[in-house]
Amino acid sequence: MKFTPAKAPLTGETLASLTDKLRAQGEPAFRAKQILDWLYKKRARSWDDMTNLSKPLRAWLAETFDLMPASLVLNKQSEDVTDKLLLELGDRSLIETVIIRAPQEGVGIEHSRKTICISTQVGCAMGCVFCASGLAGLKRDLNAGEIVAQLLQVCYREDVRTPRARTELASFDNIVVMGMGEPLANYDELLRALTILNAEWGLGFGARRITISTSGLVPKILQLAEEELGFRLAISLHGATDEVREKIMPVNRAFPLAKLVPAIRTFSEKHGRMVTLEFILIEEVNDSLVQAEKLRDIARDLHAHVNLIPYNTVEGLPWKRPSITRQERFADILRAARISVTLRREKGHDIDAACGQLRLKTEKDRATDTVPAGTEV
Ligand code: SAH
Ligand code: SF4
Repeated sequence: MKFTPAKAPLTGETLASLTDKLRAQGEPAFRAKQILDWLYKKRARSWDDMTNLSKPLRAWLAETFDLMPASLVLNKQSEDVTDKLLLELGDRSLIETVIIRAPQEGVGIEHSRKTICISTQVGCAMGCVFCASGLAGLKRDLNAGEIVAQLLQVCYREDVRTPRARTELASFDNIVVMGMGEPLANYDELLRALTILNAEWGLGFGARRITISTSGLVPKILQLAEEELGFRLAISLHGATDEVREKIMPVNRAFPLAKLVPAIRTFSEKHGRMVTLEFILIEEVNDSLVQAEKLRDIARDLHAHVNLIPYNTVEGLPWKRPSITRQERFADILRAARISVTLRREKGHDIDAACGQLRLKTEKDRATDTVPAGTEV
């Protein structure tokens, strides 16, 4: 399940690991910082851009590292609020990274708040019955360099598009780890990647603006609670009783609510931040008013925010989203108890829906191994 690239991705190196490798080559320690500055701050796209390094050093770097382990296959620019980057990895696996814009009144779309949705695996092993990512199982984990590369590709994209990019290192506001894969099943590489993104020698992106979404791997949630960097946590709950949750999420057998809920509590107590409970509304599966009441009780107990997501249909799967009336009745039960709740209806504006579509499309691209016609690169 592991892919070992011919050359180590430069985007997977920390300042410490790169310093060690350069020292072994007889290079002074400050070279590592210079190289990472070229990569993250000056956005060098080739070794020859790194003009303050000697030619032999550049040649050694080129032999040893892959400067960018994910290449842009196509950028399906849309007038919509989402912008999708299709990326190809060293073994030809395809992943997508999505830029989601939240339009703000009175300013152009290029000034809007941006959330970047990233993937952590190719496919997913968790087998949630409603999800396109898990349909073909897990192909492999992404390495840290491939996770970081997704954000750097977004930077390349935004550098030419937005005025903000001239003044800010990362011209986006939030990162959500909600693309393909179960992030906490690829814990070490994910944490390494997020450390690189957060570091001052990396992209300098605040941990509190990074949300990790998990289907509920309890031991890993507890491990994450102990990390120094305070990431935000979102839990894919989707069922407010074991009976319902177990039917749609096999992970509930290993980690039922009696284990999951205390782990969420530990996390939120440790970080003093509200955790988000994600709840996809699927008709006749989890949209009953009894489920709403149980969800209300869990959210109140955990002092958690609830994000209700009308299910996004997946080709080949039988699930549907409930009617708007039913969605509202469900939400009203939570609102009546003064639970902090969001229910987004506009399709393109929904971060989770956008990520859902991303997964589906990636699967299709991989199945046919074609790049859709009529799209700009
Ligand atoms: N594996 C992690 C993160 C990726 S999934 C997790 O499960 O949390 C990101 C979110 O999209 C999850 O809440 C997931 O349940 C949701 N999702 C999956 N398929 C969806 C669909 N068809 N419509 C709406 N949301 C979906
Ligand atoms: Fe995997 Fe998340 Fe999809 Fe479940 S919802 S199959 S954990 S990506």
